[in-house]
Amino acid sequence: MPETSDLEGMLREASLYVTRPRMAVLTAVHAHPHTDTNSIIELVREQDGGVSRQAVYDVLHALCGAGLMRRIQPRGSVARYELRVGDNHHHVVCRSCGATADVDCAVGAAPCLTAVHDHGFEIDEAEVVYWGLCPDCKSSSGKGSL
Ligand SMILES: [Zn+2]
Ligand SMILES: [Zn+2]
Repeated sequence: MPETSDLEGMLREASLYVTRPRMAVLTAVHAHPHTDTNSIIELVREQDGGVSRQAVYDVLHALCGAGLMRRIQPRGSVARYELRVGDNHHHVVCRSCGATADVDCAVGAAPCLTAVHDHGFEIDEAEVVYWGLCPDCKSSSGKGSL
């Protein structure tokens, strides 16, 4: 867990006021990377029951806009949020249960994958999602449940 003062420092560096909803969202997403909006709302309300859904949406929007938080949305999944930003890491997602984990960028810098044909575009990012079965789902399907 980061110190409260570290999270406050992140907000101040991004020129955002330190507010209770912002602190609660940062704390929740730090403790639970790749968490979806509804789970964040539940976690925030465990800390501070007075925070509305709309306040959490507003905070997520502000933190993503300020570059403090990254929003990912794998195909067929709801949006998920994390505090690991700016390192061009990728994700591995379980097809069965949606479990998500970080995978370091294959070459260490964006765009990571070089397009065979760039169509004249100046490409600065390639978003890679690795799909498969997580260890839990792999072992349960191995028992013949699928
Ligand atoms: Zn799974
Ligand atoms: Zn991640």
